[in-house]
Amino acid sequence: MTKGSINVSVENIFPLIKKFLYSDHEIFLRELISNATDATLKLKHLTNIGEAKVEYGNPKIEVKINKENNTLHIIDQGIGMTAEEVEKYINQVAFSGAEEFLNKYQDSAKESGIIGHFGLGFYSAFMVADKVEIITKSYKDEPAAKWTCDGSPEFTLEAHDKTERGTEIILHISEDSREFLEEFRIRELLNKYNKFMPIPIKFGTKTETLPLPEDAAEDAKPETIEVDNIINNPTPAWTKNPTELTKEDYLNFYRELYPTQFEEPLFWIHLNVDYPFNLTGILFFPRLGNNINIDKDKIQLYQNQVYVTDEVKGIVPDFLMLLRGVIDSPDIPLNVSRSYLQADGAVKKISQYITRKVADKMNSLLKEDREEFEKKWNDIKVVLEYGVVSEEKFAEKADKFMLFPNVDETYFTWEEFNEKFKEIQTDKDGNFVVLYATDKNQQDSYIQSAKEKGYEVLLLDSPIAPHFIQKLEYSKEKVTFARVDADHINNLIKKDEPIVARLSDEQKETLKKEISETIDSKTYTVQLEDLSLTDAPFMITQPEFMRRMKEM
Ligand code: ADP
Ligand code: MG
Repeated sequence: MTKGSINVSVENIFPLIKKFLYSDHEIFLRELISNATDATLKLKHLTNIGEAKVEYGNPKIEVKINKENNTLHIIDQGIGMTAEEVEKYINQVAFSGAEEFLNKYQDSAKESGIIGHFGLGFYSAFMVADKVEIITKSYKDEPAAKWTCDGSPEFTLEAHDKTERGTEIILHISEDSREFLEEFRIRELLNKYNKFMPIPIKFGTKTETLPLPEDAAEDAKPETIEVDNIINNPTPAWTKNPTELTKEDYLNFYRELYPTQFEEPLFWIHLNVDYPFNLTGILFFPRLGNNINIDKDKIQLYQNQVYVTDEVKGIVPDFLMLLRGVIDSPDIPLNVSRSYLQADGAVKKISQYITRKVADKMNSLLKEDREEFEKKWNDIKVVLEYGVVSEEKFAEKADKFMLFPNVDETYFTWEEFNEKFKEIQTDKDGNFVVLYATDKNQQDSYIQSAKEKGYEVLLLDSPIAPHFIQKLEYSKEKVTFARVDADHINNLIKKDEPIVARLSDEQKETLKKEISETIDSKTYTVQLEDLSLTDAPFMITQPEFMRRMKEM
Protein backbone atom coordinates (compact mmCIF):
# COMPACT_ATOMS: atom_id res chain seq x y z
CA MET A 1 0.00 0.00 0.00
CA THR A 2 1.19 3.51 -0.85
CA LYS A 3 0.28 6.50 1.21
CA GLY A 4 0.75 10.03 0.05
CA SER A 5 -0.58 13.51 -0.06
CA ILE A 6 -2.50 14.96 -2.97
CA ASN A 7 -0.40 17.55 -4.67
CA VAL A 8 -2.21 20.76 -3.91
CA SER A 9 -1.14 23.95 -2.32
CA VAL A 10 -4.47 24.95 -0.83
CA GLU A 11 -4.88 23.70 2.74
CA ASN A 12 -8.02 21.74 2.02
CA ILE A 13 -9.61 22.03 -1.37
CA PHE A 14 -12.73 19.98 -0.74
CA PRO A 15 -14.70 22.47 1.33
CA LEU A 16 -13.79 24.98 -1.33
CA ILE A 17 -15.08 22.82 -4.16
CA LYS A 18 -18.22 22.13 -2.23
CA LYS A 19 -18.93 25.74 -1.51
CA PHE A 20 -17.78 27.08 -4.82
CA LEU A 21 -19.91 24.82 -6.92
CA TYR A 22 -22.73 24.47 -4.49
CA SER A 23 -25.55 25.75 -6.68
CA ASP A 24 -24.69 23.19 -9.29
CA HIS A 25 -23.85 20.13 -7.24
CA GLU A 26 -26.07 17.74 -9.19
CA ILE A 27 -23.63 17.87 -12.11
CA PHE A 28 -21.30 15.41 -10.33
CA LEU A 29 -23.13 12.57 -12.05
CA ARG A 30 -22.74 14.13 -15.47
CA GLU A 31 -19.00 14.50 -14.81
CA LEU A 32 -18.50 10.93 -13.64
CA ILE A 33 -20.51 9.51 -16.53
CA SER A 34 -18.54 11.75 -18.90
CA ASN A 35 -15.32 10.26 -17.53
CA ALA A 36 -16.72 6.75 -17.91
CA THR A 37 -17.73 7.59 -21.47
CA ASP A 38 -14.30 9.04 -22.24
CA ALA A 39 -12.65 5.91 -20.84
CA THR A 40 -14.84 3.71 -23.06
CA LEU A 41 -14.32 5.83 -26.17
CA LYS A 42 -10.57 5.79 -25.55
CA LEU A 43 -10.65 2.00 -25.47
CA LYS A 44 -12.64 1.96 -28.68
CA HIS A 45 -10.03 4.10 -30.34
CA LEU A 46 -7.11 2.03 -29.02
CA THR A 47 -8.67 -1.23 -30.21
CA ASN A 48 -9.46 0.35 -33.57
CA ILE A 49 -5.87 1.37 -34.18
CA GLY A 50 -4.65 -1.97 -32.84
CA GLU A 51 -2.85 -0.59 -29.83
CA ALA A 52 -5.09 -2.34 -27.32
CA LYS A 53 -5.17 -6.05 -28.13
CA VAL A 54 -8.43 -6.74 -26.31
CA GLU A 55 -12.01 -7.37 -27.35
CA TYR A 56 -13.97 -4.09 -27.36
CA GLY A 57 -17.32 -5.90 -27.29
CA ASN A 58 -20.49 -3.98 -26.37
CA PRO A 59 -19.42 -1.99 -23.37
CA LYS A 60 -21.95 -0.15 -21.25
CA ILE A 61 -21.91 2.10 -18.24
CA GLU A 62 -23.89 1.12 -15.20
CA VAL A 63 -25.27 3.35 -12.47
CA LYS A 64 -26.31 1.57 -9.27
CA ILE A 65 -27.71 2.65 -5.95
CA ASN A 66 -26.92 0.74 -2.76
CA LYS A 67 -29.27 2.11 -0.15
CA GLU A 68 -27.99 -0.10 2.66
CA ASN A 69 -24.47 1.26 2.38
CA ASN A 70 -25.50 4.74 1.26
CA THR A 71 -23.39 4.36 -1.85
CA LEU A 72 -23.79 5.28 -5.48
CA HIS A 73 -21.76 3.32 -8.04
CA ILE A 74 -20.69 4.29 -11.55
CA ILE A 75 -19.18 1.35 -13.35
CA ASP A 76 -17.60 1.34 -16.78
CA GLN A 77 -15.82 -1.15 -19.02
CA GLY A 78 -13.39 1.34 -20.48
CA ILE A 79 -9.59 1.53 -20.49
CA GLY A 80 -9.23 1.62 -16.72
CA MET A 81 -6.12 2.87 -14.97
CA THR A 82 -2.99 1.29 -13.61
CA ALA A 83 -1.85 2.35 -10.12
CA GLU A 84 0.67 4.65 -11.78
CA GLU A 85 -2.02 6.25 -13.89
CA VAL A 86 -4.18 6.85 -10.85
CA GLU A 87 -1.22 8.67 -9.31
CA LYS A 88 -0.78 10.68 -12.44
CA TYR A 89 -4.34 11.53 -13.44
CA ILE A 90 -6.19 11.61 -10.20
CA ASN A 91 -3.61 12.82 -7.72
CA GLN A 92 -1.62 15.31 -9.67
CA VAL A 93 -2.93 16.57 -12.93
CA ALA A 94 -6.40 17.19 -11.64
CA PHE A 95 -5.13 19.77 -9.25
CA SER A 96 -2.48 21.49 -11.24
CA GLY A 97 -3.41 25.10 -11.38
CA ALA A 98 -6.58 24.57 -9.42
CA GLU A 99 -5.86 27.33 -6.94
CA GLU A 100 -4.97 29.78 -9.64
CA PHE A 101 -8.05 28.88 -11.60
CA LEU A 102 -10.37 29.31 -8.65
CA ASN A 103 -8.99 32.74 -7.92
CA LYS A 104 -9.13 33.81 -11.50
CA TYR A 105 -12.66 32.77 -12.35
CA GLN A 106 -14.45 33.12 -9.04
CA ASP A 107 -17.17 35.38 -10.43
CA SER A 108 -17.89 33.82 -13.76
CA ALA A 109 -17.49 30.18 -12.85
CA LYS A 110 -20.75 29.68 -11.05
CA GLU A 111 -23.04 30.45 -13.93
CA SER A 112 -20.98 28.85 -16.64
CA GLY A 113 -20.68 25.28 -15.43
CA ILE A 114 -16.93 25.44 -15.30
CA ILE A 115 -16.42 21.98 -13.92
CA GLY A 116 -15.06 19.18 -16.08
CA HIS A 117 -13.24 21.43 -18.45
CA PHE A 118 -10.40 22.08 -16.10
CA GLY A 119 -9.62 18.58 -14.95
CA LEU A 120 -11.84 19.18 -11.95
CA GLY A 121 -14.62 16.91 -13.12
CA PHE A 122 -13.73 13.94 -11.03
CA TYR A 123 -13.46 15.99 -7.86
CA SER A 124 -17.04 17.17 -8.20
CA ALA A 125 -17.83 13.82 -6.56
CA PHE A 126 -16.86 15.42 -3.27
CA MET A 127 -19.76 17.82 -3.53
CA VAL A 128 -22.08 14.96 -2.63
CA ALA A 129 -19.84 12.31 -1.07
CA ASP A 130 -17.66 12.36 2.02
CA LYS A 131 -15.66 9.40 0.83
CA VAL A 132 -14.85 8.28 -2.71
CA GLU A 133 -13.30 5.03 -3.85
CA ILE A 134 -11.93 4.18 -7.27
CA ILE A 135 -11.48 0.54 -8.12
CA THR A 136 -9.88 0.22 -11.50
CA LYS A 137 -8.27 -2.32 -13.79
CA SER A 138 -6.43 -1.22 -16.87
CA TYR A 139 -6.79 -2.95 -20.24
CA LYS A 140 -3.05 -3.44 -19.92
CA ASP A 141 -1.95 -6.60 -18.20
CA GLU A 142 -1.42 -5.06 -14.79
CA PRO A 143 -3.05 -5.59 -11.39
CA ALA A 144 -6.09 -3.58 -10.39
CA ALA A 145 -5.81 -0.67 -7.96
CA LYS A 146 -8.00 0.85 -5.32
CA TRP A 147 -7.83 4.53 -4.41
CA THR A 148 -9.66 5.88 -1.39
CA CYS A 149 -10.04 9.45 -0.26
CA ASP A 150 -12.23 10.79 2.51
CA GLY A 151 -12.34 14.42 1.48
CA SER A 152 -9.12 15.46 3.11
CA PRO A 153 -6.03 15.81 0.92
CA GLU A 154 -4.89 12.40 2.21
CA PHE A 155 -5.51 9.38 0.00
CA THR A 156 -4.62 5.71 0.02
CA LEU A 157 -3.70 3.59 -2.95
CA GLU A 158 -3.56 -0.18 -2.73
CA ALA A 159 -3.79 -3.30 -4.87
CA HIS A 160 -7.21 -4.81 -5.54
CA ASP A 161 -8.44 -8.14 -6.88
CA LYS A 162 -10.84 -6.75 -9.50
CA THR A 163 -10.48 -8.87 -12.64
CA GLU A 164 -12.79 -7.26 -15.23
CA ARG A 165 -11.40 -4.36 -17.18
CA GLY A 166 -12.75 -0.91 -16.36
CA THR A 167 -13.40 1.42 -13.49
CA GLU A 168 -15.89 1.53 -10.64
CA ILE A 169 -16.36 4.79 -8.80
CA ILE A 170 -18.01 4.40 -5.40
CA LEU A 171 -19.47 7.48 -3.77
CA HIS A 172 -20.30 7.33 -0.07
CA ILE A 173 -23.07 9.85 -0.21
CA SER A 174 -22.92 12.43 2.54
CA GLU A 175 -25.70 13.10 5.02
CA ASP A 176 -26.89 16.29 3.30
CA SER A 177 -26.95 14.75 -0.19
CA ARG A 178 -29.09 11.69 0.47
CA GLU A 179 -31.43 12.71 -2.35
CA PHE A 180 -28.86 11.13 -4.67
CA LEU A 181 -29.70 7.74 -3.26
CA GLU A 182 -33.28 8.08 -4.49
CA GLU A 183 -34.07 6.24 -7.69
CA PHE A 184 -36.35 8.96 -9.08
CA ARG A 185 -33.74 11.64 -8.50
CA ILE A 186 -31.01 9.70 -10.29
CA ARG A 187 -33.38 8.87 -13.13
CA GLU A 188 -34.21 12.55 -13.40
CA LEU A 189 -30.52 13.48 -13.61
CA LEU A 190 -29.74 10.76 -16.15
CA ASN A 191 -32.61 11.97 -18.24
CA LYS A 192 -31.48 15.55 -18.09
CA TYR A 193 -27.76 15.22 -18.69
CA ASN A 194 -27.13 11.82 -20.22
CA LYS A 195 -30.11 11.11 -22.43
CA PHE A 196 -28.09 11.27 -25.66
CA MET A 197 -24.63 10.21 -24.52
CA PRO A 198 -22.79 7.88 -26.89
CA ILE A 199 -22.29 4.80 -24.66
CA PRO A 200 -25.34 2.85 -23.42
CA ILE A 201 -26.12 3.63 -19.77
CA LYS A 202 -27.85 1.01 -17.66
CA PHE A 203 -29.92 1.97 -14.66
CA GLY A 204 -31.70 -1.04 -13.17
CA THR A 205 -33.62 -3.59 -15.19
CA LYS A 206 -37.05 -3.75 -16.75
CA THR A 207 -39.44 -6.50 -17.65
CA GLU A 208 -40.04 -7.26 -21.28
CA THR A 209 -42.80 -9.45 -22.61
CA LEU A 210 -41.76 -11.85 -25.34
CA PRO A 211 -44.14 -12.29 -28.28
CA LEU A 212 -45.99 -15.59 -28.28
CA PRO A 213 -44.86 -18.10 -30.92
CA GLU A 214 -47.36 -18.51 -33.74
CA ASP A 215 -48.25 -22.06 -32.79
CA ALA A 216 -48.81 -21.20 -29.12
CA ALA A 217 -51.77 -22.76 -27.36
CA GLU A 218 -54.75 -20.51 -26.81
CA ASP A 219 -54.29 -20.30 -23.07
CA ALA A 220 -50.52 -19.87 -23.27
CA LYS A 221 -49.11 -17.11 -21.09
CA PRO A 222 -46.53 -14.83 -22.72
CA GLU A 223 -43.09 -15.23 -21.28
CA THR A 224 -41.42 -12.25 -19.60
CA ILE A 225 -37.72 -11.59 -19.18
CA GLU A 226 -35.62 -9.07 -17.26
CA VAL A 227 -33.49 -6.88 -19.48
CA ASP A 228 -31.12 -3.98 -18.88
CA ASN A 229 -32.91 -0.68 -18.55
CA ILE A 230 -30.92 1.52 -20.92
CA ILE A 231 -31.78 5.15 -20.28
CA ASN A 232 -30.11 6.81 -23.26
CA ASN A 233 -30.24 6.94 -27.03
CA PRO A 234 -26.55 6.73 -28.02
CA THR A 235 -27.13 7.85 -31.60
CA PRO A 236 -29.55 10.80 -31.57
CA ALA A 237 -30.70 12.23 -34.90
CA TRP A 238 -28.40 15.24 -34.85
CA THR A 239 -25.31 13.02 -34.90
CA LYS A 240 -26.43 11.37 -38.12
CA ASN A 241 -26.07 12.41 -41.70
CA PRO A 242 -29.17 14.31 -42.90
CA THR A 243 -29.37 12.04 -45.95
CA GLU A 244 -29.92 9.02 -43.69
CA LEU A 245 -32.91 10.57 -41.99
CA THR A 246 -36.57 10.50 -42.96
CA LYS A 247 -39.27 12.95 -41.93
CA GLU A 248 -40.44 10.38 -39.38
CA ASP A 249 -36.94 10.22 -37.84
CA TYR A 250 -36.97 13.96 -37.25
CA LEU A 251 -40.44 13.89 -35.76
CA ASN A 252 -39.49 11.00 -33.50
CA PHE A 253 -36.45 12.86 -32.31
CA TYR A 254 -38.59 15.92 -31.59
CA ARG A 255 -40.86 13.79 -29.43
CA GLU A 256 -37.86 12.29 -27.68
CA LEU A 257 -36.58 15.76 -26.94
CA TYR A 258 -39.90 17.20 -25.80
CA PRO A 259 -42.07 14.32 -24.64
CA THR A 260 -44.84 16.64 -23.49
CA GLN A 261 -45.14 18.46 -26.83
CA PHE A 262 -47.94 16.93 -28.80
CA GLU A 263 -47.96 19.34 -31.66
CA GLU A 264 -45.62 18.58 -34.52
CA PRO A 265 -43.00 21.12 -35.56
CA LEU A 266 -43.58 22.89 -38.89
CA PHE A 267 -40.11 22.18 -40.27
CA TRP A 268 -36.53 21.84 -39.15
CA ILE A 269 -32.99 22.74 -40.06
CA HIS A 270 -30.18 20.25 -39.71
CA LEU A 271 -26.96 22.06 -38.79
CA ASN A 272 -23.71 20.41 -39.70
CA VAL A 273 -20.39 22.17 -40.06
CA ASP A 274 -16.83 21.30 -39.14
CA TYR A 275 -14.88 24.28 -40.34
CA PRO A 276 -13.93 26.84 -39.00
CA PHE A 277 -15.71 25.46 -35.98
CA ASN A 278 -17.43 22.24 -35.13
CA LEU A 279 -21.17 22.28 -34.77
CA THR A 280 -24.05 19.91 -35.29
CA GLY A 281 -27.66 20.20 -34.32
CA ILE A 282 -31.27 20.37 -35.37
CA LEU A 283 -33.49 23.40 -34.99
CA PHE A 284 -37.23 22.94 -35.06
CA PHE A 285 -39.79 25.60 -35.92
CA PRO A 286 -42.78 25.19 -33.64
CA ARG A 287 -46.19 26.59 -34.47
CA LEU A 288 -45.87 30.01 -32.87
CA GLY A 289 -48.82 32.01 -34.12
CA ASN A 290 -48.58 35.47 -32.62
CA ASN A 291 -47.05 34.12 -29.45
CA ILE A 292 -43.64 35.45 -28.53
CA ASN A 293 -43.62 34.42 -24.91
CA ILE A 294 -42.58 30.82 -25.31
CA ASP A 295 -39.80 29.71 -23.09
CA LYS A 296 -40.45 26.31 -21.79
CA ASP A 297 -39.18 23.83 -24.37
CA LYS A 298 -35.98 25.63 -25.05
CA ILE A 299 -33.04 24.92 -27.30
CA GLN A 300 -30.60 22.64 -25.54
CA LEU A 301 -26.87 22.99 -25.74
CA TYR A 302 -24.69 19.88 -25.78
CA GLN A 303 -21.00 19.21 -25.96
CA ASN A 304 -20.20 15.87 -27.51
CA GLN A 305 -23.67 14.60 -26.65
CA VAL A 306 -23.43 15.69 -23.02
CA TYR A 307 -26.16 18.09 -22.00
CA VAL A 308 -24.72 21.37 -20.79
CA THR A 309 -27.48 23.94 -20.51
CA ASP A 310 -30.62 25.39 -22.04
CA GLU A 311 -29.36 28.93 -21.55
CA VAL A 312 -28.26 29.64 -25.10
CA LYS A 313 -28.39 33.42 -24.97
CA GLY A 314 -25.34 34.82 -26.72
CA ILE A 315 -24.77 31.64 -28.73
CA VAL A 316 -28.01 31.68 -30.65
CA PRO A 317 -29.28 35.07 -31.84
CA ASP A 318 -32.20 36.30 -29.76
CA PHE A 319 -34.83 35.86 -32.43
CA LEU A 320 -34.01 32.17 -32.85
CA MET A 321 -34.48 31.51 -29.17
CA LEU A 322 -38.15 31.09 -30.03
CA LEU A 323 -37.20 27.85 -31.78
CA ARG A 324 -36.57 24.44 -30.25
CA GLY A 325 -33.97 21.76 -30.73
CA VAL A 326 -30.37 20.93 -30.05
CA ILE A 327 -27.00 22.50 -30.71
CA ASP A 328 -23.90 20.42 -30.10
CA SER A 329 -20.49 22.04 -30.25
CA PRO A 330 -17.23 21.35 -28.46
CA ASP A 331 -16.07 24.78 -29.59
CA ILE A 332 -18.34 26.85 -27.41
CA PRO A 333 -16.33 27.99 -24.40
CA LEU A 334 -18.49 27.28 -21.39
CA ASN A 335 -15.87 28.14 -18.89
CA VAL A 336 -16.16 31.86 -19.21
CA SER A 337 -18.61 34.55 -18.30
CA ARG A 338 -21.55 35.53 -20.47
CA SER A 339 -20.08 38.90 -21.39
CA TYR A 340 -16.96 37.22 -22.63
CA LEU A 341 -19.07 34.77 -24.58
CA GLN A 342 -20.67 37.57 -26.55
CA ALA A 343 -17.29 38.97 -27.52
CA ASP A 344 -15.77 35.60 -28.36
CA GLY A 345 -14.91 35.24 -32.03
CA ALA A 346 -15.89 31.59 -32.37
CA VAL A 347 -19.22 32.19 -30.70
CA LYS A 348 -19.94 35.11 -33.00
CA LYS A 349 -19.21 32.96 -36.02
CA ILE A 350 -21.46 30.23 -34.70
CA SER A 351 -24.28 32.70 -34.23
CA GLN A 352 -23.79 34.04 -37.75
CA TYR A 353 -23.69 30.56 -39.21
CA ILE A 354 -26.98 29.63 -37.57
CA THR A 355 -28.58 32.86 -38.78
CA ARG A 356 -27.44 32.21 -42.32
CA LYS A 357 -28.71 28.63 -42.27
CA VAL A 358 -32.13 29.78 -41.17
CA ALA A 359 -32.25 32.40 -43.93
CA ASP A 360 -31.15 29.85 -46.54
CA LYS A 361 -33.80 27.43 -45.37
CA MET A 362 -36.51 30.07 -45.72
CA ASN A 363 -35.36 30.84 -49.22
CA SER A 364 -35.46 27.24 -50.29
CA LEU A 365 -38.85 26.62 -48.66
CA LEU A 366 -40.28 29.54 -50.58
CA LYS A 367 -38.76 28.37 -53.82
CA GLU A 368 -39.55 24.69 -53.49
CA ASP A 369 -43.12 24.87 -52.30
CA ARG A 370 -44.54 28.33 -52.07
CA GLU A 371 -48.02 27.15 -51.25
CA GLU A 372 -46.79 25.23 -48.20
CA PHE A 373 -44.67 28.16 -47.14
CA GLU A 374 -47.66 30.48 -47.34
CA LYS A 375 -49.71 28.08 -45.25
CA LYS A 376 -47.09 28.15 -42.52
CA TRP A 377 -46.48 31.86 -42.72
CA ASN A 378 -48.74 32.84 -39.87
CA ASP A 379 -46.95 30.50 -37.52
CA ILE A 380 -43.43 31.60 -38.32
CA LYS A 381 -43.74 35.27 -39.14
CA VAL A 382 -42.99 36.45 -35.60
CA VAL A 383 -39.60 34.75 -35.67
CA LEU A 384 -38.76 36.18 -39.06
CA GLU A 385 -40.00 39.69 -38.33
CA TYR A 386 -38.06 39.60 -35.09
CA GLY A 387 -35.01 38.52 -37.08
CA VAL A 388 -35.38 41.37 -39.57
CA VAL A 389 -35.68 43.86 -36.74
CA SER A 390 -32.76 42.58 -34.68
CA GLU A 391 -30.14 41.10 -37.04
CA GLU A 392 -28.84 43.18 -39.90
CA LYS A 393 -27.37 40.16 -41.69
CA PHE A 394 -30.69 38.39 -41.54
CA ALA A 395 -32.59 41.48 -42.68
CA GLU A 396 -30.47 41.69 -45.83
CA LYS A 397 -31.33 38.15 -46.80
CA ALA A 398 -34.91 38.35 -45.62
CA ASP A 399 -35.90 40.75 -48.37
CA LYS A 400 -36.19 37.77 -50.68
CA PHE A 401 -38.41 35.54 -48.57
CA MET A 402 -40.51 37.74 -46.33
CA LEU A 403 -44.14 37.49 -47.31
CA PHE A 404 -46.73 40.22 -47.11
CA PRO A 405 -50.25 38.87 -46.96
CA ASN A 406 -53.12 41.14 -47.84
CA VAL A 407 -56.37 41.06 -45.88
CA ASP A 408 -57.71 38.39 -48.23
CA GLU A 409 -54.77 36.09 -47.70
CA THR A 410 -53.00 36.66 -50.97
CA TYR A 411 -49.28 36.60 -50.31
CA PHE A 412 -46.74 38.88 -51.96
CA THR A 413 -43.00 39.10 -51.68
CA TRP A 414 -41.79 42.65 -51.30
CA GLU A 415 -40.77 42.75 -54.91
CA GLU A 416 -44.12 41.50 -56.13
CA PHE A 417 -45.98 43.93 -53.95
CA ASN A 418 -43.84 46.78 -55.08
CA GLU A 419 -44.30 45.98 -58.71
CA LYS A 420 -48.04 45.69 -58.48
CA PHE A 421 -49.03 48.58 -56.29
CA LYS A 422 -46.37 51.19 -56.26
CA GLU A 423 -47.93 53.08 -59.13
CA ILE A 424 -51.37 53.12 -57.60
CA GLN A 425 -50.47 53.91 -54.03
CA THR A 426 -48.29 56.94 -54.26
CA ASP A 427 -48.79 60.16 -52.39
CA LYS A 428 -48.17 63.69 -53.55
CA ASP A 429 -44.55 63.54 -52.42
CA GLY A 430 -43.90 60.45 -54.48
CA ASN A 431 -43.81 58.07 -51.54
CA PHE A 432 -45.06 54.55 -51.97
CA VAL A 433 -47.75 54.31 -49.30
CA VAL A 434 -48.25 50.80 -47.98
CA LEU A 435 -51.64 50.49 -46.36
CA TYR A 436 -52.02 47.87 -43.71
CA ALA A 437 -54.49 46.65 -41.15
CA THR A 438 -53.66 45.18 -37.77
CA ASP A 439 -57.11 43.80 -37.06
CA LYS A 440 -59.41 42.66 -39.81
CA ASN A 441 -62.62 42.91 -37.84
CA GLN A 442 -62.01 46.11 -36.05
CA GLN A 443 -60.79 47.96 -39.10
CA ASP A 444 -63.20 46.39 -41.54
CA SER A 445 -64.98 49.51 -42.72
CA TYR A 446 -61.68 51.24 -43.40
CA ILE A 447 -60.44 48.20 -45.25
CA GLN A 448 -63.54 48.10 -47.40
CA SER A 449 -63.27 51.74 -48.20
CA ALA A 450 -59.61 51.46 -49.18
CA LYS A 451 -60.34 48.47 -51.34
CA GLU A 452 -63.05 50.27 -53.16
CA LYS A 453 -60.59 52.93 -54.08
CA GLY A 454 -58.52 50.19 -55.63
CA TYR A 455 -55.88 50.09 -52.92
CA GLU A 456 -54.32 46.97 -51.49
CA VAL A 457 -54.41 46.49 -47.71
CA LEU A 458 -51.86 44.24 -46.06
CA LEU A 459 -52.50 42.43 -42.83
CA LEU A 460 -49.64 42.96 -40.40
CA ASP A 461 -50.96 41.72 -37.12
CA SER A 462 -48.03 40.26 -35.23
CA PRO A 463 -46.83 41.79 -31.97
CA ILE A 464 -43.53 42.60 -33.70
CA ALA A 465 -45.23 44.34 -36.65
CA PRO A 466 -44.82 47.95 -35.41
CA HIS A 467 -41.07 47.47 -35.16
CA PHE A 468 -40.92 45.53 -38.39
CA ILE A 469 -42.72 48.34 -40.20
CA GLN A 470 -40.37 50.91 -38.78
CA LYS A 471 -37.40 48.87 -39.89
CA LEU A 472 -38.76 48.63 -43.44
CA GLU A 473 -39.46 52.35 -43.62
CA TYR A 474 -35.96 53.00 -42.44
CA SER A 475 -34.27 50.68 -44.88
CA LYS A 476 -36.34 51.33 -47.99
CA GLU A 477 -36.32 54.58 -49.82
CA LYS A 478 -39.54 56.49 -50.31
CA VAL A 479 -41.76 53.97 -48.62
CA THR A 480 -44.26 54.88 -45.92
CA PHE A 481 -46.54 52.55 -44.07
CA ALA A 482 -49.93 53.84 -43.05
CA ARG A 483 -52.52 51.98 -41.10
CA VAL A 484 -55.73 51.80 -43.04
CA ASP A 485 -57.52 54.12 -40.60
CA ALA A 486 -54.81 56.77 -40.79
CA ASP A 487 -55.47 60.06 -42.55
CA HIS A 488 -52.65 59.28 -44.92
CA ILE A 489 -55.07 57.63 -47.23
CA ASN A 490 -56.42 61.08 -48.14
CA ASN A 491 -53.07 62.03 -49.60
CA LEU A 492 -52.94 59.23 -52.11
CA ILE A 493 -53.21 60.23 -55.69
CA LYS A 494 -56.54 58.95 -56.91
CA LYS A 495 -56.48 56.34 -59.51
CA ASP A 496 -60.11 55.87 -60.40
CA GLU A 497 -63.02 57.88 -61.74
CA PRO A 498 -64.35 60.67 -59.52
CA ILE A 499 -66.21 59.49 -56.52
CA VAL A 500 -69.84 60.41 -56.18
CA ALA A 501 -70.68 61.91 -52.87
CA ARG A 502 -74.00 60.99 -51.50
CA LEU A 503 -74.45 63.96 -49.24
CA SER A 504 -75.00 67.51 -50.31
CA ASP A 505 -72.39 70.07 -49.32
CA GLU A 506 -74.73 71.56 -46.82
CA GLN A 507 -75.48 68.21 -45.24
CA LYS A 508 -71.81 67.47 -45.05
CA GLU A 509 -71.00 70.69 -43.27
CA THR A 510 -73.63 70.16 -40.61
CA LEU A 511 -72.63 66.58 -40.08
CA LYS A 512 -68.97 67.41 -39.90
CA LYS A 513 -69.60 70.12 -37.36
CA GLU A 514 -71.69 67.86 -35.19
CA ILE A 515 -69.22 65.02 -35.19
CA SER A 516 -66.26 67.29 -34.63
CA GLU A 517 -67.91 68.57 -31.50
CA THR A 518 -68.23 65.12 -30.05
CA ILE A 519 -64.77 63.74 -30.83
CA ASP A 520 -61.29 64.92 -29.98
CA SER A 521 -60.75 66.96 -33.13
CA LYS A 522 -57.08 67.52 -32.39
CA THR A 523 -56.42 63.86 -32.87
CA TYR A 524 -59.03 62.84 -35.38
CA THR A 525 -60.25 64.17 -38.68
CA VAL A 526 -63.78 63.73 -39.89
CA GLN A 527 -63.80 62.67 -43.48
CA LEU A 528 -66.87 62.81 -45.66
CA GLU A 529 -65.69 63.83 -49.09
CA ASP A 530 -64.32 60.66 -50.55
CA LEU A 531 -66.91 58.17 -49.56
CA SER A 532 -68.48 56.21 -52.28
CA LEU A 533 -70.02 52.79 -52.12
CA THR A 534 -69.13 51.87 -48.58
CA ASP A 535 -71.74 51.28 -45.98
CA ALA A 536 -70.06 53.71 -43.69
CA PRO A 537 -71.72 57.15 -43.75
CA PHE A 538 -68.49 58.89 -42.76
CA MET A 539 -64.99 58.10 -41.56
CA ILE A 540 -62.89 59.31 -38.70
CA THR A 541 -59.16 59.14 -39.36
CA GLN A 542 -56.10 59.90 -37.33
CA PRO A 543 -52.57 60.86 -38.34
CA GLU A 544 -50.37 57.74 -38.48
CA PHE A 545 -47.70 59.19 -36.20
CA MET A 546 -50.22 59.98 -33.45
CA ARG A 547 -51.44 56.43 -33.32
CA ARG A 548 -47.93 55.01 -33.35
CA MET A 549 -46.95 57.28 -30.52
CA LYS A 550 -49.70 55.87 -28.42
CA GLU A 551 -48.76 52.29 -29.28
CA MET A 552 -45.09 52.56 -28.47
P1 ADP B 1 -11.01 15.61 -17.25
O1 ADP B 1 -12.12 14.65 -17.52
O2 ADP B 1 -11.37 17.00 -17.59
O3 ADP B 1 -9.70 15.17 -17.82
P2 ADP B 1 -11.39 14.71 -14.58
O4 ADP B 1 -11.06 15.31 -13.27
O5 ADP B 1 -12.84 14.48 -14.83
O6 ADP B 1 -10.78 15.63 -15.68
O7 ADP B 1 -10.62 13.36 -14.73
C1 ADP B 1 -9.21 13.34 -14.60
C2 ADP B 1 -8.61 12.17 -15.30
O8 ADP B 1 -8.82 10.97 -14.56
C3 ADP B 1 -9.18 11.87 -16.65
O9 ADP B 1 -8.59 12.67 -17.63
C4 ADP B 1 -8.81 10.41 -16.83
O10 ADP B 1 -7.48 10.26 -17.26
C5 ADP B 1 -8.89 9.87 -15.42
N1 ADP B 1 -10.20 9.19 -15.20
C6 ADP B 1 -11.25 9.69 -14.54
N2 ADP B 1 -12.27 8.81 -14.55
C7 ADP B 1 -11.86 7.73 -15.24
C8 ADP B 1 -12.46 6.47 -15.60
N3 ADP B 1 -13.73 6.16 -15.28
N4 ADP B 1 -11.72 5.59 -16.31
C9 ADP B 1 -10.44 5.90 -16.67
N5 ADP B 1 -9.83 7.06 -16.37
C10 ADP B 1 -10.51 7.96 -15.65
MG1 MG C 1 -13.93 14.64 -16.73
